[in-house]
Amino acid sequence: MQEKELLDEMKIITRKEALAQGLKRYFTGKPCKWGHVAERNTDSDCITCRKAYQKAYDQTEKRKAAKKAYTQSGAGKAYMKAYAQSEAGKAVREAYAQSEERKAAKKTYRQSEKGKATIKAYDQTEKSKAASKAYRQSEKGKATSKAYQQSEKHKAHMKVYQHSEEGTATSLRRQLGFDPPAEYVEAIHTGRLIKRELIKLKEQNL
Ligand SMILES: [Zn+2]
Repeated sequence: MQEKELLDEMKIITRKEALAQGLKRYFTGKPCKWGHVAERNTDSDCITCRKAYQKAYDQTEKRKAAKKAYTQSGAGKAYMKAYAQSEAGKAVREAYAQSEERKAAKKTYRQSEKGKATIKAYDQTEKSKAASKAYRQSEKGKATSKAYQQSEKHKAHMKVYQHSEEGTATSLRRQLGFDPPAEYVEAIHTGRLIKRELIKLKEQNL
């Protein structure tokens, strides 16, 4: 329906008549002082003005603080919980989860200091370890791992790792069956000692 037709269909009455009929809204057909030709509330101004005012008010610091206090209050939390469990809440959540906005926000969070710390803490929980193990043993996990091991990225990474002190320590641990003393790791890593010599040394000491 066109706006004009809509306006024509609205019954034009005065505020006095509307009040007499117990109506909350009425329509005069005349523009308000800001030029809106819209319905008016019997207890305040034109509804277009009201919306604009509400919008400006919502953006004030005072209003933001009040909103924050409400969301953290018992009543606010109860309301949010009920909304989250409603059909409307679920639909909004699903749409957001699949949005580009959400993906970008996730990425930003993962790369932030806080996100990194949270991920690290989660990785060390038993729950996370169990989930990782289950994934590694799944068909999908095995396929992903195999593909990664054959990738150039992995080969390049291994090359760097094998020449690192950490790589040397891991390799020694495997060959010795126990944690190698740090001074040996360093000696081997800096080339002052070769692994074969260290192992011989250890065998003689046993
Ligand atoms: Zn207005």
